[in-house]
Amino acid sequence: MLTLPAMTFREWTGPLTADLVREPARFGLGQVPSRLVPDATTKAICGFCSTGCGLKIHLKDGEAINLTPDADYPVNLGTACPKGWEALNVLDAPDRARMPILHGKEVDWDTALRYFCDQMKRILDQHGPEAAAFLSTGQIMFEEMAFLGALAKFGMGMIHGDGNTRQCMATAVAAYKESFGFDAPPFTYADFEESDVLVFVGANPCIAHPIMWQRVLRNKRQPEIIVVDPRTTETAMAATQHYAIKPKSDLTLLYGLAHRLIRDGGVDKAFVEAHTSGFEAFESFVADFTPERVCAETGLSTEHLALFARTIRQGKAVSFWWTMGVNQGHQATRTAQAIINLALMTGNIGKPGTGANSITGQCNAMGSRLFSNTTNLLGGHDFRNAAHREKVAKATGMPVERIPDRQSLAYDQIIQAADEGTVKAIWFVATNPSHSWIDQNEMNRILDKLDFLVVQDMYCSTETAKRAHLVLPAAGWGEKEGCFINSERRIGYSPKVRRAPGQALADFHIFRLIAHYWGCGEMFREWQTPEEVFRVLQRCSEGQACEITGIEGYAQLIRSGGVQWPAEMTNGEWRMTNERRLFEDGKFFTEDQRAKFCFDEPVVPPEQRCAEFPLILMTGRGTSAQWHTETRTGKSAVLAKMVPEELMLDLNPEDAAALGVRDGQRVRVISKRAELTVLTRVTSCVKPGEVYLPMHDGRVNQLTHASFDPLSRQPSYKHSAVRVELV
Ligand code: SF4
Repeated sequence: MLTLPAMTFREWTGPLTADLVREPARFGLGQVPSRLVPDATTKAICGFCSTGCGLKIHLKDGEAINLTPDADYPVNLGTACPKGWEALNVLDAPDRARMPILHGKEVDWDTALRYFCDQMKRILDQHGPEAAAFLSTGQIMFEEMAFLGALAKFGMGMIHGDGNTRQCMATAVAAYKESFGFDAPPFTYADFEESDVLVFVGANPCIAHPIMWQRVLRNKRQPEIIVVDPRTTETAMAATQHYAIKPKSDLTLLYGLAHRLIRDGGVDKAFVEAHTSGFEAFESFVADFTPERVCAETGLSTEHLALFARTIRQGKAVSFWWTMGVNQGHQATRTAQAIINLALMTGNIGKPGTGANSITGQCNAMGSRLFSNTTNLLGGHDFRNAAHREKVAKATGMPVERIPDRQSLAYDQIIQAADEGTVKAIWFVATNPSHSWIDQNEMNRILDKLDFLVVQDMYCSTETAKRAHLVLPAAGWGEKEGCFINSERRIGYSPKVRRAPGQALADFHIFRLIAHYWGCGEMFREWQTPEEVFRVLQRCSEGQACEITGIEGYAQLIRSGGVQWPAEMTNGEWRMTNERRLFEDGKFFTEDQRAKFCFDEPVVPPEQRCAEFPLILMTGRGTSAQWHTETRTGKSAVLAKMVPEELMLDLNPEDAAALGVRDGQRVRVISKRAELTVLTRVTSCVKPGEVYLPMHDGRVNQLTHASFDPLSRQPSYKHSAVRVELV
């Protein structure tokens, strides 16, 4: 067994309890930053979703007591959804993790950190660098994510680490990288207001991104709003056209639209010739997607297909938006690229009100994608590229030989490796896979096999924390500072405005302490504060599509209402507007600067209906008042009043009649993997043969079938076979 480094935490700082009295600020404990003025107002970015709303935080004696939406912030223009309004209140929950917990007992930080390093080193020493992995989240700040990725890989020597972004945005990443040459969502939120046709595919912004929907409502052009969704969602109800296709027939529909647009003269030939590659092959591929075939496979009528194509063809500024209905599919990357293909072939990109636009999920999903050192080397670089490793080594001051020369396994592959016994330890940071991962019982069976399971989280009560050998108590949003990158690539700063409870520490400081205990603290001597890490990441971004070297620092982010990437200086001058979209010059990030048409033949989802399981279960966001696994939002009494007390299954009246089930009756939903008892909501919002459950309830993923998009490795939560029985 390896011995711990010569200088231990005790020697470095003295006992933590004494330090708390003497030097609390050294750990980010007990004080709010001096940059705040007591009894004033400061500005923050909401820490729930990727919209990235600006909030005004009202202070008394230097500490937050209330908040209101920021009317000057270019994202939300004075509005906030219920989650944002409750952001401070969820911090006061009694189940906050206040002390480290080792095998169910509270311990001090010194004991916890010694144990963490001891166990991780033992496993890595005995079984090699692939035996331990980390899984993190787009919920922590981008400086923290970068620190975690750098610490785990460069400092501790791990190879594998991924984020829960894999459940959310991996598809958009894979699609953009191949089609545009970089993970580059092209839009700015002003595009919601500047389109005359908005096409939402597998997206329900009324519920999932309500403030973005407010931007749609501000559109003064009386736009056509088209929704493609098997369910009649809240957004579909507000749309001018709704296409309720069969579940997971979206890829066929999108190819069918391309076919019609080509046939009817809807191609922007000048744009295609000047700025794309592969159109001829795409044109010949979609020749097979005749209206007859497409209508048979999607359930649409030929008239509706023609109307849909005609609306796109006649639109002057058409924007295409997608989110989890596309990203969480068995052929998700090709589906996202089929949307991109439509934007490219009609020339709807790089102009106001256009774009092939993936809406992200978590507050820092974009930071996770580019700066987490998981699938990308810091700053959107490639671990396998020697020049990239050299560049990042120089920018960070790390020895180049400490940078892995291969990709991490994806999330599902790490879990599979844990099942096979090659991964023996996993360190989860601010994520709750015992609730959120697909086929939950299987996930939990595998987690229980681990030699060492660490959870670093705000709450010690999550389903995953309850299974952990070691829980490290973390500060939450508002209790630490750093930046998020939102859906439109805007980097926004959020300050510390509250004390964290007990001895909970900012994730940033936990990583600093682990670096020290591990004995690699010297490698991170420049990483003392989030803003110093921001500077390191600026250097990493130089020359990349996501360059942020032109940002002066946190002060500019606060002053300017956030800054979108790319943000480089031009001849030493800041010449940028605060609302920018990409590709206005028609140049993409591929080698030949052309966007690429990517496509594949549709295949049927892996789990099909059968006599025993005749219904298709879809899952999704059920309310704007809850966030993901309800780890935080579940603590708010206000938000709890806005959702049903019990889990409710949407069931079509025809199916209800056939089963003899009435609205509000209790039923069992049964899949091959599990059964749940729920209440029914009989509604024509789902079609016959289809049922729907919101994902927030901790039991729903017991039912879901674990299938993955082969290109993005993102799980498909939208197509599991079930049956329903009366209790
Ligand atoms: Fe805005 Fe999202 Fe926060 Fe709601 S949760 S206030 S939409 S950032």
